[in-house]
Amino acid sequence: MKQRITVLGSTGSIGKSTLDVISRHPERYEVFALSAATQVDLILEQCARFRPRFAVMASAQHAQELADRLKANQIPTSVIQAQDALELIASHQDVDAVMAAIVGAAGLSPCLAAARAGKRLLLANKEALVVGGAMFMRAVREGGATLLPIDSEHSAIFQCLPEDPATWAQRVDSILLTASGGPFRQRSPETLSAITPEQACAHPNFSMGRKISVDSATMMNKALEVIEARWLFDLAPEQIKVVIHPQQIIHSMVQFKDASILAQLGTPDMRVPIACGLAWPERIESGASRLDFGALAALTFEDADARRFPGLHLSWHALNAAEGTTAVLNAANEVAVDAFLSRRLRFDQIHAVNLATLEAVPSSKPDSLESLLDLDAQARQAAANVAATLAA
Ligand code: NAD
Ligand code: MG
Repeated sequence: MKQRITVLGSTGSIGKSTLDVISRHPERYEVFALSAATQVDLILEQCARFRPRFAVMASAQHAQELADRLKANQIPTSVIQAQDALELIASHQDVDAVMAAIVGAAGLSPCLAAARAGKRLLLANKEALVVGGAMFMRAVREGGATLLPIDSEHSAIFQCLPEDPATWAQRVDSILLTASGGPFRQRSPETLSAITPEQACAHPNFSMGRKISVDSATMMNKALEVIEARWLFDLAPEQIKVVIHPQQIIHSMVQFKDASILAQLGTPDMRVPIACGLAWPERIESGASRLDFGALAALTFEDADARRFPGLHLSWHALNAAEGTTAVLNAANEVAVDAFLSRRLRFDQIHAVNLATLEAVPSSKPDSLESLLDLDAQARQAAANVAATLAA
């Protein structure tokens, strides 16, 4: 039987890489549903090629445009226009696996739907876990879902950890998340205010979506990944460490109680963790090139400079505060990055918005999706106010 896959965010960087891996294994996988925000041309092409049963767009206008063009091209994909369309394609009884590759908190609700329906959930959308944390993991347990990390660092740790999670607490000392350091690793902190969106989105090793590119440049990406790791691997915040490794060959490491360290290595290509998640525990061809050790000059490591990357430490701060604090941090950062990308905020002010929002929004412990989304909205409003004041 072929595995039927829903790809949420199929027109993004991770979505496209996922379809690339799927296309290499037509005997194993078929596409059940695709979703995108606004990119009608690209999702139309993907529908023509992969023939999914359903497609979903983020607005009624884009959904109608896609439906008209599918019809004109005689492609038999149905566009679902319901309010809960993403949840439907994430939890449909005919779906085996869901690739969660939407960017931001917008992906939380379909992730919860897939988890509650007991799907194999391939998680690239780290913000969903940063926002949902405890609720997300409870949905995975109660729904009997299989959660497989796609973020390369978390895939690396998942591959290095013993197979039985019941043994982790006794065996694992800590984990070491590697970070590229982004494009401004060596830039003097005084000059960060002049950085443009174009410079921030030019990552040295990867082509990624714009939001994660900015997060990599501020190292807020690593801050979100520290929080992601806390939930995925049930670790105390102090057990999670970060080390800069510019070559991105070691994707992360696990240190055990006896001081032995296991690392996962490979070329920096997201198709590797995607193929790993799709096939686990089997292994399939990913399309990535093999690591050529003879051509590797050196693997180097550095500590993260707190002056250059002040946002990194907000992760431990948020994890040690009330449970909703990580959701507030994520919301603030989404608003700040958006303001920076639309040139309403300077690069160095992203951190100022995050910090001021954490101070402005009272701490709380949301116990339902509704209260979590309320807190998210409250934090977005607070962050927008701070950003407007800074920009003035
Ligand atoms: P991207 O911007 O390239 O793609 C995002 C996708 O989500 C697009 O298909 C877009 O249409 C869709 N989308 C955006 N907003 C939406 C909304 N409100 N409703 C519905 N759909 C929406 O981003 P990306 O780089 O592919 O990253 C996706 C996720 O994976 C992010 O959470 C990112 O942190 C994570 N991730 C990405 C990489 C990478 O190399 N790109 C690596 C690790 C983790
Ligand atoms: Mg990562």
